[in-house]
Amino acid sequence: MMQTNFLDTPISYLKTVGPQRAQLLKSELHLSSFGDLLYYFPFRYVDRSKFYMVKDIEPELPYVQIKGKITHFGVAGSGRSQRLMATFKDETGSVELIWFQGVQWVRNSLKTGVDYVLQGRPTAFNGVINIPHPDLELLSLYEASPDTALQPIYNSTEKLKTKGLDSKGIYKLMKILFSQMEPMLFNKDVMWLLPENLSSELIEDLRILSHKQAVIQIHFPKDLQILKKAEFRLKFEDLFFPQVRMLSAKNNRSQSVRGHIFSTVGQYFNVFYHEKLPFQLTNAQKRVIKEIRADMGSGKQMNRLLQGDVGSGKTLVALMCMLISIDNGFQSAMMVPTEILANQHYKSIKELVEGLDIQVRLLTGSTKTRERRELLEHLADGRLHILIGTHALIEDPVKFRNLGFVVIDEQHRFGVEQRSKLWNKNTILPHVLIMTATPIPRTLAMTIYGDLDTSVIDEMPPGRKPIHTRHYFDSARLKLFSFMKEQISIGRQVYVVYPLIEESEKMDYKDLMDGYESILRAFPRPAYQVSIVHGRMSSQDKDYEMERFVRKETQIMVATTVIEVGVNVPNASVMVIESAERFGLSQLHQLRGRVGRGAEQSFCILMTSYKLSAEAKLRMETMVRTNDGFEIADTDLKLRGPGDMAGTRQSGMEGMKIADLVKDAQILQLARASAMRILAEDPSLSSESNRPIVRFLQELSKEKTNWSRIS
Ligand code: ADP
Ligand code: MG
Repeated sequence: MMQTNFLDTPISYLKTVGPQRAQLLKSELHLSSFGDLLYYFPFRYVDRSKFYMVKDIEPELPYVQIKGKITHFGVAGSGRSQRLMATFKDETGSVELIWFQGVQWVRNSLKTGVDYVLQGRPTAFNGVINIPHPDLELLSLYEASPDTALQPIYNSTEKLKTKGLDSKGIYKLMKILFSQMEPMLFNKDVMWLLPENLSSELIEDLRILSHKQAVIQIHFPKDLQILKKAEFRLKFEDLFFPQVRMLSAKNNRSQSVRGHIFSTVGQYFNVFYHEKLPFQLTNAQKRVIKEIRADMGSGKQMNRLLQGDVGSGKTLVALMCMLISIDNGFQSAMMVPTEILANQHYKSIKELVEGLDIQVRLLTGSTKTRERRELLEHLADGRLHILIGTHALIEDPVKFRNLGFVVIDEQHRFGVEQRSKLWNKNTILPHVLIMTATPIPRTLAMTIYGDLDTSVIDEMPPGRKPIHTRHYFDSARLKLFSFMKEQISIGRQVYVVYPLIEESEKMDYKDLMDGYESILRAFPRPAYQVSIVHGRMSSQDKDYEMERFVRKETQIMVATTVIEVGVNVPNASVMVIESAERFGLSQLHQLRGRVGRGAEQSFCILMTSYKLSAEAKLRMETMVRTNDGFEIADTDLKLRGPGDMAGTRQSGMEGMKIADLVKDAQILQLARASAMRILAEDPSLSSESNRPIVRFLQELSKEKTNWSRIS
């Protein structure tokens, strides 16, 4: 059992665990081996020397520790909504405790009238302070177990708690594990246990703890200072290794993957630029086009991410780069996530290149067989220059003659796999531009897109007026309707958007239809015309309704979030978002971006019910306060955490054990800079001193899924 596989030992072999608890540890926390347990880090620490008085408890406090007694219990609700309450008292006052789960078990395991030490986080509910799911330990037991001043707190679950594996129970397991490792930990002959995974140069440069020390101290911190060091070291690891991986993948690609060389900027581009372009490019657009051109001429395959807020003019940049591709004798493709969006891009691009002798076609799931056949023929013989479409583009029979450049709009809707199918359509990979209008906080971008080059359009076309955003409660609906009428009377058009969340689909459709009816009543024909678009309509019907709105035959467009991405109707200047509290920030921002595209003053009106959670309130306030997509993205990240943000799922970020992309942005910078430096000095990581890094990366790739996201 010795040797490297010690940490692979099934957790059931750990003293006091046994098969039943092992099963639970696995199903509840994914802990199945000694190693899993060892790397299950505390999420906070309680200073055991510090006790609070009940009278000093406030909802903003972090974790607190109090001494006192339970005076009585109460149960409310029944079935799944049953709750257990208890009153906890010290000489200064009393506070409510509350449990939403494990009611029976908690009730049976606690007694009134005896002294406890309570640890928990106070919150306020309806103005009353309480402590949900506190940890309680008999004072006598607490005092009998003298311990480090900083007591680690581990996440546990209700099920585990019923088997004695609350935070303290897990801590006990940790102690057992370490006592088993103890003889080996500091034995110079045992090199395989918690080996170093960074080079000694790096450790010296950064003055960080060794891996081994960090792992020990994170569980059993001697004092606050060394705890901070342990956290720093482990966070650095979390952030450093993905960076090494991504950056070296990027290096390899740029060395080994050839790209088409677009050496000229020819007729198509020039005629368009000098004769067709209806406005001046912004400086940001010019800069980005230059960056892309440099890539295209380099002989290496481009993989570039283009970030720009909604309406910043990304599509135009994409088009101009397609023209360069065509100038060099290559075809271009643009892939977008929805049919409506494909239609929209198709129309606007066709319009823009009119008179340039460029063949543009549209391919979606609803392209008719006959048309499709002809289209594919023209694609294969090279007559077709630009193909725009949905994921229909990556279906098998679609063969390009020579695809040189691919634009992927709103990429987070496409899986990595789907994308790679496009690349494989050619022997030399096409240049790839991924466009995203969802602003990504810098830290997140570095982690998710660390292997891509990035360009940012950070400037809006001139003459745009900032959108005015207002927040109304549902009770102000009459005011809303009269505002809509006022805007319509001066020639504007209005979107009214309803949420459509999959799990409550039926209800949502009912809301949408009820809303539609009430709008029809308030805006009667023939003075008003109202369009409706939702996911249950056929795509012909959707297109028809969209068309009517685009042609200004209708003044109001009632829709579910299908219009979220990309739709461009400059005359629409009012965006009403119903049940706005149900949308996330980035979605709200996307929706708002549908207006404010023309020269007129635009408005976004967020309708919500009167009762809002604190978080929803903050979302509304953020929207009202700012139009800056990056600021919104940062707030979004803070509110939701990175796990929920678009694109994070496949990024390997969930492998992070302790780093937090919101709080640890600086460590991330350092990790990235360190990775760059090491790779600059030793691109293949073949030096003796980088051996630990390579060995660790190999270990990681054994347990992790595929990291290579692109190509
Ligand atoms: P994005 O794709 O970034 O959301 P679009 O490319 O759809 O933005 O552009 C939004 C609108 O702004 C379009 O109507 C487009 O024609 C217009 N536009 C783009 N660039 C400029 C510019 N430099 N000056 C004026 N209008 C522009
Ligand atoms: Mg767009």
